[in-house]
Amino acid sequence: ATMPPLLSAMANAGRHGVLVKSAVVMERLGEADAVALDKTGTLTEGSPRVTDVHPLPGAGLTDDALLALAAAAEHPSEHPLARAVVNAARERGLRLSPASEFDSAPGTGVTATVDGHVISVGSPLRLLRHADASSSADATASAAALEESGSTALLVLRDGEPVGVVGVADRIRHDAAVTVAAMARLTDVPPMLLTGDNARAAARLATEAGITDVRAGLLPQDKATAVREQEQAGHRVLVVGDGVNDAPALAAAHVGIAMGRAGSDLAVEAADAVVIRDELAAVPTVVALSRATRRLVV
Ligand code: ADP
Ligand code: MG
Repeated sequence: ATMPPLLSAMANAGRHGVLVKSAVVMERLGEADAVALDKTGTLTEGSPRVTDVHPLPGAGLTDDALLALAAAAEHPSEHPLARAVVNAARERGLRLSPASEFDSAPGTGVTATVDGHVISVGSPLRLLRHADASSSADATASAAALEESGSTALLVLRDGEPVGVVGVADRIRHDAAVTVAAMARLTDVPPMLLTGDNARAAARLATEAGITDVRAGLLPQDKATAVREQEQAGHRVLVVGDGVNDAPALAAAHVGIAMGRAGSDLAVEAADAVVIRDELAAVPTVVALSRATRRLVV
C-alpha cells in the first residue's frame, strides 16, 4: 500500500531530523508566510562561554570570588547562561557555596541566598531598574562595553547592590545565515529576531545572520505579543525557539518548532515540531516538504 502524502512527508521530515507531531502540523508548516526566530540557542549554538569577569571597584571581590558567587547562585538553573557561569567556575577549580531560596525569572535572571547574602545574576536592563543610579553607573558602563563587543553582560547583585559584571559569548550557528536566507525566500515578510538579550548583542548577531527586523530586551510574553501582532496583520507565523522563554511565542504561533538537542522540556512541549538533529537548516527543508505535499493533495 502507498502511504498518504502527509504521512510520507512526516517520515521524510524525520529523515531530515525533524519530528513533526501530527499530520495537521505537517500541513501547517507549509502555510507559514512569516517567520520569527529566537537568538540564544536557536540562531546561536547555545553553548555560551564566560569571556570576562569584572568585579566593580569598591565591591572588595577578586575575579574568582565574583565568579564563585555568581556560579553558586546559578547552579540550580538549567539556562545556557547559567551553565556557562558554572562551567567557568569549575574550570578555575573554585569551590561553590550551596545556594538556598533559589528563584528564577525567565528573560531576567536568577536569585538565591549564598553565604548569607541575597545574590542576583541576570540582565542589567532588568536588574538595574530597582538599583539606585549612583551605585549602578559603573555597572552600566562595564556592561555596555561588553555588549558593544557582542557579548551578553550578566550583572551580579549582592543584597541589591551591583558588585560585578560577567561577560558571556556564544557562537553563531554555522547554518544560521543560509537558514535565514532560505526562510526569507519562503515567506512574504522579512524574518524577525525575537530575543530577551540586549539590543547591542542582538544587532550584532542579526547582521551576521542577515536579519533586519530585530526586537530585543523582550520578556517571554513580549515575544508572544510580537507573534500575535503579526498574526493579526494577516500573517501565519512560524516560530523557532529553544527555551522556557520561547514557550508562550511557540504556543501563539501558527506553527512552532523547538530546537530539541539543548532545548528545554517546556519548549519541546509547546512546539508542534522538534528539530532533533542539531541542524537549523532543517527548518526551511520541512517547510518546503510541506508545500510539495500540498501540491500533491490539492
Ligand atoms: P534569548 O531570548 O536570547 O534566548 P533569554 O530570554 O533566555 O534569551 O534571556 C534573556 C536575558 O535574560 C539574558 O540575556 C540574560 O540577561 C537574562 N537571563 C535569563 N536567564 C538567566 C540566567 N539563568 N542567568 C543570568 N541571566 C539570565
Ligand atoms: Mg533561546
